[in-house]
Amino acid sequence: MKRVEIAGKPPPVKDLIAPSPETFRSDILRHLTFTMGKDAAHASVYDWRLALSFALRDRIVEPWFAATRQTWDEGRKRVYYLSMEFLIGRILEDAAINLGLRDVAAAALETLGQDFRAIVEDEPDAALGNGGLGRLAACYMESMATLGCPGYGYGIRYEHGLFKQRFEGGRQVESPEDWLNQRHPWEFERPEAAYEVGFKGEVVREGGRAVWLPGETVRAEAHDTPVVGWAGRWANTLRLWAAKPTTLFDLDRFNRGDYAAAAEPEALARTLSRVLYPDDTTYAGKELRLKQEYFLTSAALQDILRRHLSAGYALEDLPQHVAIQMNDTHPAIAGPELIRLLVDQHGLGFDAAIDIAVACLGYTNHTLLPEALERWATYLMGNVLPRHLQIIEEIDAWHLRHHPTRPHWVGIVKHHEVRMGELAFITAHKVNGVSALHTDLVRQNLFSELEALHPGRIVNQTNGVTPRRWLRMANPALSGLITKAIGPGWEADLDRLKGLEAHVDDAAFRADFAAAKRTNKVALADWIARTQGVTVCPDAIFDVQVKRIHEYKRQLLNILETIAHWHAIRQNPQGDWVPRVRIFGGKAAPGYLAAKEIIRLINDVAAVINNDPVTGDLLKVVYPANYNVSMAERLIPAADLSEQISTAGKEASGTGNMKFALNGALTIGTLDGANVEIREQVGPDNFFLFGLTAAEVVERRKTPDHARQAILASQPLQDVLQMIAEGQFSPDEPARYHGLVHNMWHSDYFLVASDFTAYAEAQRAVEAAFRRPDDWWRMAALNTARMGFFSSDRAIRGYMAEIWGAASAL
Ligand SMILES: *Cc1c(COP(=O)(O)O)cnc(C)c1O
Repeated sequence: MKRVEIAGKPPPVKDLIAPSPETFRSDILRHLTFTMGKDAAHASVYDWRLALSFALRDRIVEPWFAATRQTWDEGRKRVYYLSMEFLIGRILEDAAINLGLRDVAAAALETLGQDFRAIVEDEPDAALGNGGLGRLAACYMESMATLGCPGYGYGIRYEHGLFKQRFEGGRQVESPEDWLNQRHPWEFERPEAAYEVGFKGEVVREGGRAVWLPGETVRAEAHDTPVVGWAGRWANTLRLWAAKPTTLFDLDRFNRGDYAAAAEPEALARTLSRVLYPDDTTYAGKELRLKQEYFLTSAALQDILRRHLSAGYALEDLPQHVAIQMNDTHPAIAGPELIRLLVDQHGLGFDAAIDIAVACLGYTNHTLLPEALERWATYLMGNVLPRHLQIIEEIDAWHLRHHPTRPHWVGIVKHHEVRMGELAFITAHKVNGVSALHTDLVRQNLFSELEALHPGRIVNQTNGVTPRRWLRMANPALSGLITKAIGPGWEADLDRLKGLEAHVDDAAFRADFAAAKRTNKVALADWIARTQGVTVCPDAIFDVQVKRIHEYKRQLLNILETIAHWHAIRQNPQGDWVPRVRIFGGKAAPGYLAAKEIIRLINDVAAVINNDPVTGDLLKVVYPANYNVSMAERLIPAADLSEQISTAGKEASGTGNMKFALNGALTIGTLDGANVEIREQVGPDNFFLFGLTAAEVVERRKTPDHARQAILASQPLQDVLQMIAEGQFSPDEPARYHGLVHNMWHSDYFLVASDFTAYAEAQRAVEAAFRRPDDWWRMAALNTARMGFFSSDRAIRGYMAEIWGAASAL
């Protein structure tokens, strides 16, 4: 790689030296004056936030440069993480903590009469993702930086991230999200790093070679955000592509006065990076989505090859220097695209090209839900990516040639559809599931035939979450206690939390643990009072279910049991009840009507229960709108109880479950996804298990009237369904939930009725435990102490060793 040698260039930055608050104060003031052009006397919170962000960003640049320099000097293997989603959230405080500058920044701002908290909360969330999959990508970027794994994230710079949610009459209403309306201080625009991406057109043959003549082209322009790891020892790049027109403007049309038509090329191109598809775990089959997927993938691969070649390496050696991870099948066009670039543009033979592709690529499967598996109609694929469809057919034929025993129903192109799961499997050297249970099910069900042909290709990498954001930053009260108990450094070595076990029998430690939780609960209660107009008592059990709204996640089970509990209290208001606050949060895909009906039901039920003087403080239901990363950071540290109640076999892993347990919430949950491993780690006595297992779920569904049987066996559930059907929660429209109740009796695919009684019993066990504070806080502290395994650092180490063949540069 061409690099200008600068005399006396600084050595790699390894240990940051924090500036004094005085120095940092002048950094902030310099940016306020010269970057923002504002005088301190007239600066707004926004101005201060940007000045602070720039002052922090300045301090990332050196470790960032040093990391890049070291990667190239040492010829290190680089990891490229391709993801259509990065659900980042706010950046400022996380960056400040990783740089060791949080307290310096807060102190500097105080001398300037500014409140650090208010500035932090002024930042909009970068919500370039729907839920768990996108948040995982963000945690993995941070862990790669912490571990010194040389890497790049590649994604799309959506102008509008995930929609904003509000409730009107209890119903979800969506509005566009506009995080880029404000200046985004963390990124560097790279107009020089741009590639053309083609679509449509035709494939012609020239001298025996295929030549694709695209009918449309757009430019992908890079925007780089540095991602700094713990203690500022390493920083990687998140490179997001924005779509720009290749011809900016039709001047002829403009001169003829046709202004709208003149701007057409620009408008067409920009739609590509305009919006994030809001579908979580469903696949829409829309042409624009396929174009987005190809846009990201092609720009990334062109960038990867350009960087590799300019370093002077041979294309044949690509797998020694490059690992490419596909986050779900969304970038699964990477296999055909890499082969196309190698064959059509660089003149390699097909067999050599596919060997290179397979050796570089890895594929992470995130779901078994059939409605989520991407399949593109061949006519659509052939229209949008004609050359790729040819290559996909060649890959399929190549695979069958090498595996003549492949069953006839297995393949990439079947029934006029391209199956992206099979494509990703066949073009990757490793395929991974995201929890032990999920990986077993991928092996046994989803890809059983391909697994037989490629034994060992499927591996497990159980998900993880970054403890920097999800414990250190989100929960300063508990973080302080942990450091007091076991000393510093657990943030980058989460297994050290085990050291807390020695303290759980110490009453003073348990009291401190409970006090930290109470601090967070009081703060949340204040926020709920302020923003939701509901008063909740911090002594109640804070019972939280926050995640995308989906039938398989069974928010319905939660709200039905809430109604049953309310009904039970009303039958005996003088009973010895444990007060509870049931907190919900989450968005539904705009077109997912069943999920939207559940949202409305929760809000309708909340309106009735919260205004019932009989139950009063004994039961409240709160559903703040617009759940996102920053709301998660507020709710999770204040939770006593974590609801992880999906129908067994449906949740691939979950990561919300990990954040809660790490923050000392006890889980009520099914044997699904990573719940299984969480329970193993924290111990079965410290976990409220209920419900059918994945195998029992399959069996249960064979009973045609399982729902009816289960309802008839439970008087409380019958009463609940009766109350809903009578319109007790929708008095203005008593028939509102007749469809939902009918479905409960006659279908209930997700087995809400079958698990209802077990769930209700587990909830009573929760209450019994909560009445014994010594036991409760011991269990809660043991949860925190035993969650070290679920650090995303452990997960990334697993990917590095078993999939990427990459080593740490630190
Ligand atoms: C962690 C997280 C998720 C994933 O939650 P699950 O319970 O695993 O589905 C979704 N959204 C946000 C904002 C998160 O922080």
